Amino acid sequence: MDEAEYKIEEIVFCENCQDDVKYEIRSEIIKIDMEDIEFSYEALVPYCKECGEEVSVPEINDLNIIRAYKAQKEALENREEFK
Ligand SMILES: [Zn+2]
Repeated sequence: MDEAEYKIEEIVFCENCQDDVKYEIRSEIIKIDMEDIEFSYEALVPYCKECGEEVSVPEINDLNIIRAYKAQKEALENREEFK
């Protein structure tokens, strides 16, 4: 995957730095293991460029929630097919 496409220059407040910082976005595979189903999805995780700590970006959180929801839906559909 081309990492460059995820690199956008935005400013976010980093709690670790206690300052407004630039961040970079990396994609990470997140595994969800719930009682009745497990699935994984590619999440976008923003990291502070100053200290390297994960930062919270609401717009990216929203994207991840949508990605997780889609992955869960697909996993449920696949499970139905194998019944
Ligand atoms: Zn920081």
